[in-house]
Amino acid sequence: MAALGENRFELVIGGEEAPGTRGEHRPVLDPANNRPMAEAAVASREDAAHAMEVADKAFRESNWAADDGARRGKALYRLASLVESRAESFARLETLNMGKPLRESRGDIAYVVRTLEYFAGAADKVEGETIPVPGPRIDYTLREPLGVTVHIAPWNYPLLLSVRSVAPALAAGNSVVLKPASLTPLTAVAFARLAKEAGLPDGILNVVTGSGAEVGEALIEDRRCASVTFTGSGDVGHHIAELAARRFLPLTLELGGKGPVVVFADADLERAAKAIGYGIFGNAGQMCWAASRLIVHESIRAPFLEKVRGIAEGLKLGPGTAEGVEMGPLVSRDQLERVLDYVRDARENGGHVVVGGTKADDPALSDGNFVRPTILADVPPTSRAVREEIFGPVLTVSSFSDMEEAVRTANDTPYGLLAALWTRDLATAHSVARRLESGMVVVNDSPTTYPQTPFAGVKSSGVGFEQGFRALDTFSRRKNILVNVGTSRKKG
Ligand code: NAD
Repeated sequence: MAALGENRFELVIGGEEAPGTRGEHRPVLDPANNRPMAEAAVASREDAAHAMEVADKAFRESNWAADDGARRGKALYRLASLVESRAESFARLETLNMGKPLRESRGDIAYVVRTLEYFAGAADKVEGETIPVPGPRIDYTLREPLGVTVHIAPWNYPLLLSVRSVAPALAAGNSVVLKPASLTPLTAVAFARLAKEAGLPDGILNVVTGSGAEVGEALIEDRRCASVTFTGSGDVGHHIAELAARRFLPLTLELGGKGPVVVFADADLERAAKAIGYGIFGNAGQMCWAASRLIVHESIRAPFLEKVRGIAEGLKLGPGTAEGVEMGPLVSRDQLERVLDYVRDARENGGHVVVGGTKADDPALSDGNFVRPTILADVPPTSRAVREEIFGPVLTVSSFSDMEEAVRTANDTPYGLLAALWTRDLATAHSVARRLESGMVVVNDSPTTYPQTPFAGVKSSGVGFEQGFRALDTFSRRKNILVNVGTSRKKG
């Protein structure tokens, strides 16, 4: 049974919880055993339109947008404290629904709180500028909220990736309609329930659960939709970009990745191996910014691979709620099959499974979607396992002989989200970091981000960015005002 109250999760529209016009609910499964652990309302296109109407009315009629930004900030701080005071319940709910170990869910919820706090502090700093112009004129810009912003989230960090864009949108004075992934809708609903208590006017934060193709599209196509933030797969991203283009809607796309980790021979190999273990086996590898392609200097390949293999073999698998578990199940059976299919394909193309590559062999885990941490070596660079995002705990390995080859191999991918490199040499670090075709680079660290640093992909990994102070720009528009304060009738 789910935490945070009853096990039925409704739509949250205008501060009210309701099942939606269909009155239909969909079971939500625990990926550790594929048994239903709750059920969530399945919204219709009419529900989506209703949510947009309510959000639009709240935007126009409540004082949220027009009010002093400091008041919005206070409400967001209260929202942060309410989540923090229920952090353990949120973390358990996330783990039960998504599968990740409780330790990771606790980290996600702490990140949610920190994101809300960060943008609470930014809410009274949505500033324009004054621009010098000739004559007796004053020119200044205002930053205005957009209206109703639509946010479509994936299942791998359900609440964290929702709040990552919802927090700056609210701080900038917009009203929000959020659609969580249909596999993992629960924490978003639990979050929206807190809006009233935090002091947000009804209708400013709404959550609609249901199918992406039906509800997600209806939200984007609604005439009241003022911007779209989508985090998810490239295929759906393309489709959403087409829908948004029809109405010239501002769009942020946070899509997939195939992150390279370049390890030079002078690196701290112990730290690098641990970071790579986290970077590909954390969240069972279901991370857009996973460190999924190890590119290691040929002189240290064998001993380094041994270290990473040791980490993979030592990870404790199990249900995310169990004590000491280090890797949980994949989110669904489909995802499990997808991951195993990549391993099969790699094998058929001459790849060699260094470790893993199968379902977990512990009979106690057989009902869940558990796959062993996997390392694939000698996979041809053209094969699917190297080119495509697997979104599971699967690391591919290749080697390089000099810096040119390392950079070429790292950049040989359609994606460009996060790249990592390991070296003790400052010149190598800075020069390679600049040459990597990637929205983010970490040097001598595991994948790491903060609410105050931009999160962005290039190439097929996305358009626009999230996080950081400038995220406020994404959710506000600039209006230029020119005032002639002169009294002379001559044209100045
Ligand atoms: P997905 O694209 O299947 O779904 C994402 C969301 O889009 C869900 O809420 C889904 O219901 C909705 N959706 C599906 N079809 C839609 C449609 N036609 N119109 C509108 N909405 C629709 O992605 P997923 O499987 O939930 O997540 C995994 C993907 O997300 C991976 O590719 C991963 O790399 C990516 N991701 C990217 C980032 C990032 O910040 N770059 C972060 C996390 C995940």
